[in-house]
Amino acid sequence: MKIICIGRNYTDHIKELENEKPTDPVVFLKPDTSILLKKQPFFIPDFSNDVHHEIEILVKINRIGKYIDKKFAHKYYDEIGLGIDFTARDLQSELKSKGLPWEKAKAFDGAAVVGKWLSVSEVKDVNNITFSLKKNDKIVQLGNTSHMLWKIDELIEYISKYFTLKIGDIIFTGTPAGVAKVIANDKLKGYIEDKEMFSITVK
Ligand code: ZN
Repeated sequence: MKIICIGRNYTDHIKELENEKPTDPVVFLKPDTSILLKKQPFFIPDFSNDVHHEIEILVKINRIGKYIDKKFAHKYYDEIGLGIDFTARDLQSELKSKGLPWEKAKAFDGAAVVGKWLSVSEVKDVNNITFSLKKNDKIVQLGNTSHMLWKIDELIEYISKYFTLKIGDIIFTGTPAGVAKVIANDKLKGYIEDKEMFSITVK
């Protein structure tokens, strides 16, 4: 399986990092080895002093597809999840300034937190999902999928022009504002509405 991530999909987050608003979705990949194993803590890698949390809604692909029209995109997933796209911001800034790929900053071991899954029928409207991240019991990121620049079905249309989507692939749909550094002993809990989707400790 592969993980396809979308960058800069919420205006408030584009502003906080002083990035330009893209004319097309920003797309990058993470390998399966980046998934944080269940019940394991997240270890801050020794090559970064500024790892940020990015809370994101996830979509799990359930059919193989290529060149999927957005009208039919809803047939390619029936589960929605929540995760964290951990980002070594210091390393990413260095790579960005040199025009180099971001993988070392985004695709390292443990950099993809994948929480529980909900069926699409449980979330009702995928374009109106409220989600949040609590750090040490305080809400630090709060988003709603209605604020995405590209909605889930549009992302599937766009991504599938470039990559065949396969069963089990996961799309990270971008983060809202509030990204910030994590430090040892932080407790991170993710929520869709009031349902807890994951709980991890930083080491
Ligand atoms: Zn992200």
